[in-house]
Amino acid sequence: MTEIDGTFQKLRELARNLWWSWQPDIRAIFRELDPEIWRIVYHNPVALLQRINPDEISRRVRDLEMQTRINQAHRRLKQYLDGCDSWGTVHAGPLLAFPVAYFSAEFGLHQSLPIYSGGLGVLAGDHLKSMSDLGVPVVGVGLLYHQGYVHQLIDENGWQQDLYEPIAASELPVDPVRDAEGNQVRFAVELPGRQVWVKVWGVAAGRSRLLLLDARDDANTPEDQELTARLYGGDQETRIQQEILLGVGGFRALGRVGIKPSVLHLNEGHSAFALLERAREIVEHQGLTPQAALREVAATSVFTTHTPVEAGHDHFRADLASRHLEALAQGLGLPLSEVMALGSETPSDPAAPFCPTVLALKLTRRTNGVSALHGRVSRKMWHHLYPGGPEEQVPIGHITNGVHVRTWLAADMHALYVQYLGPRWLESLSRPELWSRSERIPEAELWEVHQVLKARLLTFVRRRLADRRERLGLPDPLQEPLHPEVLTLGFARRFATYKRADILFQDLDRLDRLVNHPERPVQIVFAGKAHPRDTGGKTLAQKVANLERDPRFAGKIVFVENYSMHVGRQLVQGVDVWLNAPRRPLEACGTSGEKCILNGALNCSILDGWWAEGYDGANGFAVGSGEIHAEPEIQDERDGLALFETLENEVAPLYYDRDATGLPLRWLQRVKRGMRTLAWRYNADRMVMDYVRECYLPAAGGETSRMPSR
Ligand SMILES: *Cc1c(COP(=O)(O)O)cnc(C)c1O
Repeated sequence: MTEIDGTFQKLRELARNLWWSWQPDIRAIFRELDPEIWRIVYHNPVALLQRINPDEISRRVRDLEMQTRINQAHRRLKQYLDGCDSWGTVHAGPLLAFPVAYFSAEFGLHQSLPIYSGGLGVLAGDHLKSMSDLGVPVVGVGLLYHQGYVHQLIDENGWQQDLYEPIAASELPVDPVRDAEGNQVRFAVELPGRQVWVKVWGVAAGRSRLLLLDARDDANTPEDQELTARLYGGDQETRIQQEILLGVGGFRALGRVGIKPSVLHLNEGHSAFALLERAREIVEHQGLTPQAALREVAATSVFTTHTPVEAGHDHFRADLASRHLEALAQGLGLPLSEVMALGSETPSDPAAPFCPTVLALKLTRRTNGVSALHGRVSRKMWHHLYPGGPEEQVPIGHITNGVHVRTWLAADMHALYVQYLGPRWLESLSRPELWSRSERIPEAELWEVHQVLKARLLTFVRRRLADRRERLGLPDPLQEPLHPEVLTLGFARRFATYKRADILFQDLDRLDRLVNHPERPVQIVFAGKAHPRDTGGKTLAQKVANLERDPRFAGKIVFVENYSMHVGRQLVQGVDVWLNAPRRPLEACGTSGEKCILNGALNCSILDGWWAEGYDGANGFAVGSGEIHAEPEIQDERDGLALFETLENEVAPLYYDRDATGLPLRWLQRVKRGMRTLAWRYNADRMVMDYVRECYLPAAGGETSRMPSR
């Protein structure tokens, strides 16, 4: 093998482990190989290496500096994969031999693997990444949607057009998982009246592994092949069948691949059928009674719930559910009615719908919400399933979500932290002591870095706006949109109605005065997709897109289409303020605001989700004081007024309060207070450590006591 062949091989290996995505220097290698193609392939190194002209790669790689960087990156990857002195070896010993199996309908690891729709998926991706960094073995289990999630194009009327693009496995960082004979692992799952074959693909995310099931198998009818086409697509029937593939198929896949999980962790209820399949297997292989098997499953399983409204949980019609559960009930040796009762809120009523969340609540010993407030809301919401005791004793605790710092942090900020927190700061991320050192960061340096990041964001947004104008054949604007000196607010998330992207639009004159204030102007960058069937969400997106054309707001309120992890990363790194306006208490946690803390932005949010516990009076801005009104319209109106007040009276004055050198000193002190008080807690390393200590270790030990509510 020539040296160049060897280098190609190393590039390929780097591209096939998503570890590169949280290593800025490796991202830079791929980008520099061909910046134009890098952009066209959506930052997908697997596709890049296929599309780029081989002579061009050779030419670039022959460049000595590139060669050395690739060698070094490759060596670092090997060291990372082989590393054995991790947090996990010391603190998670019992999990080392038998990994945690983490089930989720979506995984947001990187924008080039589009099998996520929003926060739930990004959380799952961040979880796998921190498990990898901390050295706690985990295998993710999900579905490979071959059309991914919807792409959003905003048309000339501001309306969201949905576009699904087929993705080829050959262009994704997925590899067939092979059996001893070298064939891709595939097996059948029973669905009513037929079997559906699934193939298993593997993804590497650092030391974590992700198994993805795919129904595109020649043995299936064309309709069945479509079962794994789209994330959250189709009707109730498609949905329950997807959930059976995910839960039953996913658990079976672990066995086929030779993985014996110590603990099952279900990220939301979509994968709850895995619990029944595991019980069925215990009955079959260990000869336990169905009741004993169900107890065993409950003792070793963890369930995280994310949805604080009943309507947000799947409720499958009884006839639909019973048809789909027949095979499982038979395998378990239980009457169908008993299995149906496990997913019912009213077990005495045979016509009651089947709710996978209820199944998960009944069949896991450790259950948690994703913030302190959400834990309380969940205990209240599910109290009826635990009659006889007070609400506080409903066995649902909470572990607040955190974000994977290396994924969301700007490289320039990382450099600043290396200098002032120490070169090994990432290793003690979740220690409050580390963050007291953030006081040492000189405000002027922090401001400088922030302004660089902001300029980069504005360039990115302008380019996206220009792309859309070009596509729609619109003329260039008279003035460049957005200004680097203007206070910049960001609002980006799924356009679900409860998130209230339009909260400031209830008074457009007041918005006009806020945006066009002579001394303290404001500009707002929006992004977000609505679910294809959510007309309310699409109407929200349209309202935002149409404001762009109002001369009062042109170039000052802008909408970036096709929100993704990539768009999100630009935004959280470059804005001054992150806005969040959920209708309390509907935001179970919210994580996008957490991504801003370390990048030097301030949160301005309704006291909901993580912010209800994170806000301390001076580390960001609170909107209102956590009121809830029985009439949503009244609550929306009051929260809108409160947001205007906070922006006008607190946020803008503080931002434009400058010292003699033009520095917003008090603003930057608040940013630093945000880092000191929030960063140690709202990161995924802390979250994973909590799961290990409070859930995984007790579950792996088969402790039957329930997780304490905190
Ligand atoms: C972080 C993230 C989210 C979650 O945002 P919330 O504020 O929790 O709604 C959703 N989508 C993407 C692409 C993200 O990166």
